[in-house]
Amino acid sequence: MKKIVIAIDGFSSCGKSTLAKQLAKELNYVFVDSGAMYRAITLYFLRHNVDLKNEAIVENNLKNISLSFVFNEAEGKSDMYLNGENVEKKIREMEVSNNVSEVSIIKAVREFAVAQQQKMGEQKGIVMDGRDIGTTVFPNAELKIFVTADADVRTQRRFLEIKDKQQNISLEEIKENLLKRDRIDSTRQISPLRQADDAIVLNNSFLTREQQLNIALNWAKEKMQ
Ligand code: C5P
Repeated sequence: MKKIVIAIDGFSSCGKSTLAKQLAKELNYVFVDSGAMYRAITLYFLRHNVDLKNEAIVENNLKNISLSFVFNEAEGKSDMYLNGENVEKKIREMEVSNNVSEVSIIKAVREFAVAQQQKMGEQKGIVMDGRDIGTTVFPNAELKIFVTADADVRTQRRFLEIKDKQQNISLEEIKENLLKRDRIDSTRQISPLRQADDAIVLNNSFLTREQQLNIALNWAKEKMQ
């Protein structure tokens, strides 16, 4: 079977990373959560009060950022490291979620992240999830999946995912954040979130994790022949 590139895009919290992680495990592929990179950049900018409107300042700050993924045995996935610090938990907090889409609009930020993502895919055998993977990062990916799910289903999933870590969070706050990010991500000028022409849509509102994995796994195996 040949090694392929699998690009998974879609709206916020529709289970892209879960699917990408499961697929990578089944196929023995590398899994990359591209959103974690934008989140880590956002965390750095927040910590250093970077003025997002000032291109030169943004570019200078990007020079000080080193991102890496380090495999975490216990979680069965990689953690995001920012300049050697494990920031996996920090980047999931609301402060980052509330600012990440504004950071992801910036041209220099996208170029910085996309160049690293494309390098990770050079050897193929990779599953990457994000917003522009099938359109910009890997336009030639053999399999492109566009995941969708009902907004209330997505809110509920996100709530269950973070409620133990952030107990003061409400469903309304989460839904508002998801919809706001979707709006900014879909309408930005550079690499907006959109379904690639050759992507297959997977609506998982009423699918279990296993069902969605089996569907995607069949698609992947067809492409690997
Ligand atoms: O995937 P996740 O929800 O963690 O992504 C966080 C944010 O990062 C998105 O809302 C989007 O603004 C940005 N992002 C992006 N392009 C990607 C992945 C994420 O702009 N490929």
